[in-house]
Amino acid sequence: AAAAAAPPRLILDLEALQHLDASEAGPLTRYAATIQAQRGDYNGKVLSIRQDDMRTLAVIYDESPTTLTERFISWGVLNPEAKGDVEDSSE
Ligand code: C2E
Ligand code: C2E
Ligand code: C2E
Repeated sequence: AAAAAAPPRLILDLEALQHLDASEAGPLTRYAATIQAQRGDYNGKVLSIRQDDMRTLAVIYDESPTTLTERFISWGVLNPEAKGDVEDSSE
């Protein structure tokens, strides 16, 4: 469904990400590093990512985007305002 207001942004906390167990956070860490490299954006403490990137990460983690969003928030690596931002289906 299209929202009238701009959706809350998806903002990764790169410092918090470094302190997580690599066995769980590894795919997210590598994904974020790839985006930083593509942008040439190495100096930030945070990284704004695309809505589509959460859907891609959901495939990688074999979770629904909603579940994965909540998990990343519970890890402290995604801003809590992102909750409800990513829809499970595009239809
Ligand atoms: P691209 O998607 O062809 O985007 C080219 C340029 O358009 C980007 O260069 C950026 O200056 C601008 N741009 C595109 N979408 C946005 C946006 O939503 N917000 C802003 N502020 N600018 C946007 P940049 O940043 O050097 O990125 C180069 C390429 O790296 C991009 O080419 C894309 O292929 C990839 N990339 C960068 N950041 C992301 C990301 O967050 N997610 C994904 N999936 N790819 C990304
Ligand atoms: P904001 O979106 O609330 O971002 C606040 C600050 O968070 C930014 O301050 C920057 O220090 C950091 N930040 C957010 N996302 C990223 C990221 O992907 N990489 C890095 N390295 N840092 C990030 P900054 O740069 O002084 O920008 C201040 C405000 O200017 C931003 O507030 C936003 O409203 C606007 N802005 C800056 N760049 C863009 C952009 O590419 N697109 C849009 N639409 N607004 C931008
Ligand atoms: P933003 O720069 O404030 O962009 C907000 C939304 O406007 C984006 O949400 C996207 O839907 C649209 N948008 C902005 N610029 C472009 C563009 O060049 N092409 C297209 N097709 N759409 C654009 P989205 O994709 O969820 O991205 C959220 C935030 O992630 C962006 O906020 C920006 O901070 C960051 N981001 C995403 N892609 C890139 C990128 O390629 N390069 C950079 N530097 N930042 C990006």
